[in-house]
Amino acid sequence: MAVDKQALSALEQGNAFTGRHIGPDHAQQQAMLSELKLESLSELIEQTVPKSIRSLAVSGESTLNIEAGKTEVQALEYLRALADQNQVNKSYLGMGYYNTHVPNVILRNVLENPGWYTAYTPYQPEISQGRLEALLNFQQMVMDLTGMEVANASLLDEATAAAEAMALFYRTGGRRSNHSKHQVFFVADDVHPQTIDVIKTRAEHMGIQVEVGNPNTDLEKHDIFGVQLQYPGTYGQITDIASIVSKAKEQKAMVSVATDLMALMLLKSPGELGADIALGSSQRFGVPMGFGGPHAAFFAASEKLKRSIPGRIIGVSIDSRGNQAYRMAMQTREQHIRREKATSNICTAQALLANMAAFYAVYHGPQGLKTIAERIHRLTTILQKGLTTLGVQCNNTYFDTLTLKVGSQQEAIYNRAIEAGCNLRRISFDQLGISIDETTTAEDITQLFNVILGQGQDLDIQTIDSQITVSGIKENHRRTDAVLTHPTFNSYHSETDMLRYLKRLENKDYSLTHGMIPLGSCTMKLNATAEMLPVSWPEFANIHPFAPRDQVKGYMTMINELEAALEEITGYDKISMQPNSGAQGEYAGLLAIRNYQEANDQAHRNICLIPSSAHGTNPASAAMVGMKVVVVDCDENGNVDVEDLLAKAEKHSENLSCLMVTYPSTHGVYEEEIGNICDIVHQHGGQVYMDGANMNALVGIAKPGKFGSDVSHLNLHKTFAIPHGGGGPGMGPIGVRSHLAPYLPNHSVSPIEGNHEGMGAVSAAPFGSSSILPISYLYIAMLGQQGLQESSEVAILNANYMAEKLSSHYDVLYRGRNDKVAHECIIDIRPIKEASGVTEEDIAKRLMDYGFHAPTMSFPVAGTLMIEPTESESKDEIDRFVSAMVAIREEVRKVQEGEWPAEDNPLCNAPHTMSDLIDSDWSHPYSREEAVFPLKAAFPLKGSIASKYWPTANRIDNVYGDRNFICSCPSIEDYR
Ligand SMILES: *Cc1c(COP(=O)(O)O)cnc(C)c1O
Repeated sequence: MAVDKQALSALEQGNAFTGRHIGPDHAQQQAMLSELKLESLSELIEQTVPKSIRSLAVSGESTLNIEAGKTEVQALEYLRALADQNQVNKSYLGMGYYNTHVPNVILRNVLENPGWYTAYTPYQPEISQGRLEALLNFQQMVMDLTGMEVANASLLDEATAAAEAMALFYRTGGRRSNHSKHQVFFVADDVHPQTIDVIKTRAEHMGIQVEVGNPNTDLEKHDIFGVQLQYPGTYGQITDIASIVSKAKEQKAMVSVATDLMALMLLKSPGELGADIALGSSQRFGVPMGFGGPHAAFFAASEKLKRSIPGRIIGVSIDSRGNQAYRMAMQTREQHIRREKATSNICTAQALLANMAAFYAVYHGPQGLKTIAERIHRLTTILQKGLTTLGVQCNNTYFDTLTLKVGSQQEAIYNRAIEAGCNLRRISFDQLGISIDETTTAEDITQLFNVILGQGQDLDIQTIDSQITVSGIKENHRRTDAVLTHPTFNSYHSETDMLRYLKRLENKDYSLTHGMIPLGSCTMKLNATAEMLPVSWPEFANIHPFAPRDQVKGYMTMINELEAALEEITGYDKISMQPNSGAQGEYAGLLAIRNYQEANDQAHRNICLIPSSAHGTNPASAAMVGMKVVVVDCDENGNVDVEDLLAKAEKHSENLSCLMVTYPSTHGVYEEEIGNICDIVHQHGGQVYMDGANMNALVGIAKPGKFGSDVSHLNLHKTFAIPHGGGGPGMGPIGVRSHLAPYLPNHSVSPIEGNHEGMGAVSAAPFGSSSILPISYLYIAMLGQQGLQESSEVAILNANYMAEKLSSHYDVLYRGRNDKVAHECIIDIRPIKEASGVTEEDIAKRLMDYGFHAPTMSFPVAGTLMIEPTESESKDEIDRFVSAMVAIREEVRKVQEGEWPAEDNPLCNAPHTMSDLIDSDWSHPYSREEAVFPLKAAFPLKGSIASKYWPTANRIDNVYGDRNFICSCPSIEDYR
């Protein structure tokens, strides 16, 4: 037998991950390059990216100092070793984070299922009815349990939700009062400490004074506009909400109650007790703690505040057949319209985790949940009785949390607990906290007795249980109304039924499992399975964010290594992992700028220059730190108008705080002037915030920290492969140059080594949504230096190929040097609209009939579509998309030339559904085949109808939905 010539190293190359991550293989890349009349990727980059910003080594090679890519097997093995360094103790720490049993049917079919996690935010509702229904269930669940009239889906964490409540109260009441200065926000001293931390950070630049105190005694003293309570309190006791509410109302202050959904199964609802807002975390409804996240925060309010609620609200509307259908209501893309006047900067939220929490409620139902809550409470009661019988003092109102007065024994008990593998909460020098959860067993309670009282105490659980006469919930605190009565929560309690319900919803939704989602600015790239696996490893999933640091060595190593890699990639000196979305990163970055300027006697600098093309979160974030937004024009090529920038920087020189600029621009081009732009801002004493959402066009090519920027956020859920989850989770770490490093967020409960002690927190958890960091970690580890660079290059190649193929049919709006685009391109539908009446929305909806998800619509320019194929889409997929777009252009022509009437054609009637097929009368001037299967070449499987994805709703009426605002599950009679 002849010996194969290939050496081992070459064979191992064959296992490289890069070739799996990048869609087009070498031959396809060459084919695309030759369409563009180019020889190589490096020629493309030379023609596209301004030399002035490129990181070029002397040899012309990449300057990215990152290890070579590992194979999937190697990378997972390495991460496994890190995971093994995390110690999974039983957590009794509470503070809003509890162990939970993730129902396996939900774990496998939702959390670990790309059909759910690779979907995008449901801006195209006709192909998102599954997750919209799930999110509506979430809202209904929250409204039921909190007793409030309106709920959103969802916010980032409990602490930021509380900060949003404060901002809402301030907006709607506090600031407007002329008679007295209602500037004080009162926070009860038994609110979770991390929540107080985040509230204080947020208040600082809004001109709000935060008072922390006992609401039962201190409330009257102040002139307050709002109150934040915790129910039950962080130390376990059940707050008497009603009496505090009435005191607050006397001085026209509104009341927000942070609460716990599990406790609310047994406790009177905040709504019933008069609260204006109820908020909290839904984590313990079947979402792992994950060392801090991700989990969905909920936010519910009374009817009168419904137009001011931050975040996304799912609403009910009808489609063009009059069938009920769901969509995002009111605030859809709110920041893009209201800019700095937006109610909040929330964009990416926690959709996937909100879905999981809602499914947990659907699966268990009201009876099941009540049983879980009663059991938790019973075990807590047994613990409480056992301890008090033997003389340990603890609170006598509680749901699941006890605060023990243990005197000088504190240290010894704490250490015995650690030895037994249990984490207790150290509250003060003589107090310990214990929170019981769904996973706690009777044996665990026995173990706790032994730990607390020392061995040999003969406390028998059964005996104590049989002697219980009073519980920790007083009769007048007990919930009496029925909750979760909607059929959704009472229909799917067998695993078979649940599995089918989940699958039915999943099948309604378009995700990356169907085809490309070419959303400009959103970077819907591959979320590799290998990257996703560690998210549900117990060593990452089942860890409390405030677990002692010596138990999370694996996490810390992973986080440190990821930070180092991101520093190398961006050219910044230091990274903070705390912000858990891009918009939160913007906020944290601007905060760093503000605090830096304040520390340097420049507190008066409050002008933030923002180009008109900026993402809506930019001005919304600037407003949150009390900056004044001044808009800078763009020129006809989509670039920042440097003249205008110069003029405005000069005009505001004295007070210039910063510029927020996206690079490459949201117009999809590399502006040549970026260096100059940064210089102008610096010359006037300002800082440069570079929005890093478009880093997918820069990794391995250029480093923002080296070409003029001072701070950026990175959307790990765009560039670094974290899936979008149908609207979250995400991670928005920020990178800063060294002068801003002292102003990165810290955390009062779980301080971050190396960060400045004086800085507050911007998220509830010290490292944000830590449990999804392994995804980005593995992404970088498996691609390595070359793969990262090649990914950016192919992303740029794909976009340019797309622009080239579309350009004879559509106007490509902006191009950079050598007529090249960056990693995305905008096509202009306005001329088409003018000539034919066909809108960008018609085209977006028609793409669904061809089996595609629409590109980004009307951002950053109204009447356009922004297409970003990413490096993960192959040439075949791009060609299919192009063929659909070309066919649609031909359809437009038919409308334009009167072959099809303007008010009855496949474009304005799109999308078409199976209902259209089975209709007995078909009166349209085009055939059913033209409606639902217009072009063989656009469908996979050699153009087989079997491969078609079917939208499940016809065109949904936006206006109807907002006029008839409903954000709860429709009653059964409404089902048509
Ligand atoms: C996505 C995006 C943001 C916001 O990021 P989130 O993670 O959704 O909060 C900000 N700027 C730009 C340009 C974006 O594309």
